[in-house]
Amino acid sequence: MKFDQSGVDALMEITSRPELVFVRGQGSWLEDHNGKRYLDFVQGWAVNSLGHCPPEVVRALGMQAEQLINPSPAFYNQPAMDLAKRLTGASCFDRVFFTNSGAEANEGAIKLARKWGQLKRNGAYKIITFDHSFHGRTLATMSASGKPGWDKMFAPQVDGFPKADLNDLDSVRALIDDQTVAIMLEPVQGEGGVIPATVEYMQGLRKLADEHGLLLIVDEVQTGMGRTGTLFAYERSGITPDIMTLAKGIGAGVPLGALCAREEVCVFVHGDQGGTYNGNPLMAAAGIAVFDAITAPGFLDSVNARAQQLSEGLLALSAKWGMKGERGVGLLRALMLDRDDGVAIVNMARDWAPEGMLLNAPRPSLLRFMPALNVTAQEIDLMLGRLDEIVAKVRA
Ligand SMILES: *Cc1c(COP(=O)(O)O)cnc(C)c1O
Repeated sequence: MKFDQSGVDALMEITSRPELVFVRGQGSWLEDHNGKRYLDFVQGWAVNSLGHCPPEVVRALGMQAEQLINPSPAFYNQPAMDLAKRLTGASCFDRVFFTNSGAEANEGAIKLARKWGQLKRNGAYKIITFDHSFHGRTLATMSASGKPGWDKMFAPQVDGFPKADLNDLDSVRALIDDQTVAIMLEPVQGEGGVIPATVEYMQGLRKLADEHGLLLIVDEVQTGMGRTGTLFAYERSGITPDIMTLAKGIGAGVPLGALCAREEVCVFVHGDQGGTYNGNPLMAAAGIAVFDAITAPGFLDSVNARAQQLSEGLLALSAKWGMKGERGVGLLRALMLDRDDGVAIVNMARDWAPEGMLLNAPRPSLLRFMPALNVTAQEIDLMLGRLDEIVAKVRA
């Protein structure tokens, strides 16, 4: 079956896409317009935390869509309050503002920190972020990001995001001045190549922030909601951040994000923050279904078991092919290649017959794995076995 390509030119050109259309998905599997199946270890860029079309989320969306889709954020709705209460009950945060994306949650975190700086720190506004970090694609979050080249892309940047080196406390200390208000980081840099901040480093940053009266902001858009084997990645270091942002996995594929903050930092007054779709009951209902699935007894244990299996399998593959090992936390992992054939592997995996496989190479010498959190042991073994065959063919 050929897909109807007449709409291709009606889409704004923003990336190169393969000549196929996905028509349905179930769990770890996608199916294209030819009926070809793909084992999906990308999952919409770590978005589909429960795989494709998880029944509990489908059910929650259907039931909520029949009841109420959006009364406007100027009114309370029950799902938003219920989800906020779940998030505050399971974290060190006291209040939540819901958003429609990770970038929007980070924009909110930046605004909240700047407002807090105006009120409590003499107008301090600088937020120290990190080289190779990724915080989103709005102007402020691009400015906060440390992706090479992004400083020039839509110049001028939003001011006030000096960059430090991850896992180097002195590089942060050297940037602190009387205009600094916060430090913001991903507990594991995702787009940067799956680079974890160490537990000691997270603790060191908390201490440094306390010494200088700064806020500590964790961008858990990719690491939150069970991805790293705990509900939130900051838990691993035992610290208490002041602000946390969530998105990706919290909606299981639908647009939902959250800005979470401790009471002392919740300084927005009426009119400072809002948005037409924010906290709508339809997305919040999906968020509740996701939260309840991830916090069900045993769920995170199985995430950790699968993470161990994936880690060991990648390590074995690395040893076999003379690659440079693997790294990551939970089900956010990377295989470090010994050469720049990541894109070739990704392309061959996708085009593999009769079944394809979706992988991701955020850098030419690195493959990233972000399967559904409920991926099965068999699916991981299948992926590892096939990856071995694909590497053999690419390197033949
Ligand atoms: C994906 C991502 C974002 C941006 O989220 P969007 O929903 O794409 O706007 C921000 N921060 C991190 C760490 C991410 O991985």
